[in-house]
Amino acid sequence: MEYALVTGASRGLGRAIAERLAKDGYPVIVNYNNSEKAAREVVDSIVAAGGKAELMKLDVSNASEVEAAIEAWDASHPEDYISVLVNNAGIRQDNLLVFMQDEQWESVVNTTLGGFFHLTRRLVKSMMTHRNGRIVNISSVSGIKGMPGQTNYSAAKAGIIGASKALALEVAPRKVTVNVVAPGFIATDMTAELDQEMIKKMVPLGRIGKPEEVAALVSFLASKDAAYITGQVVSINGGII
Ligand code: NAP
Repeated sequence: MEYALVTGASRGLGRAIAERLAKDGYPVIVNYNNSEKAAREVVDSIVAAGGKAELMKLDVSNASEVEAAIEAWDASHPEDYISVLVNNAGIRQDNLLVFMQDEQWESVVNTTLGGFFHLTRRLVKSMMTHRNGRIVNISSVSGIKGMPGQTNYSAAKAGIIGASKALALEVAPRKVTVNVVAPGFIATDMTAELDQEMIKKMVPLGRIGKPEEVAALVSFLASKDAAYITGQVVSINGGII
């Protein structure tokens, strides 16, 4: 059976993506790091809706944790493989560069870029063997335009774009696609403390996006219909240029 793994699926965009992929028919692996209760609720909601889901705890920034968790999953699923990987886990630690602490730089880069590296390196192999795979990486408008106070986050999110484009070329001959979704402001915990009225003024469509809207785009890129799309960055941001 083909599974979908969504990192950071306990809350926000990851939750919406996991629920959407389950609706699309994938058994979904719901990854979380700290929010176990919330992640269990995601699994319960998928199962209640008639889907299939299981939990996977791991810190995407920790190479050996990723290795051990995927190793254990492979051992317990000898007939299955993960054909859809959504690298969604991410954090913000905003500060002006002059004040930025080592920890703020490292935690953001290690979560977004390290997470992409650890999970993708481990899972792309079996996608290549099966000549079938979809990797969708969540970047941000911040990685395209840059945002003040986010040199760490912009660097990580821009890095994801470069890495995705390079990997797309490496794995295209094996029918594995790699694409990037770059959201603008979407209503999740990550944006909850931002000035909502100010955001609305910055967005040509005049509103904050919904996690389900991002999930619908990821669903398309993960589908068989998107077989001829790879190495692309698709923005979903209400028209921010
Ligand atoms: P969120 O509500 O803060 O949720 C973040 C998720 O990432 C949580 O499920 C969290 O899991 C998980 N996570 C964080 N560090 C992790 C780690 N080391 N290992 C595993 N999971 C980890 O954020 P969100 O708004 O949904 O954002 C999701 C992604 O979209 C991020 O990459 C973010 O940068 C990107 N994005 C968001 C927006 C937006 O406006 N919301 C815009 C552009 C891009 P636990 O709670 O279990 O630790």
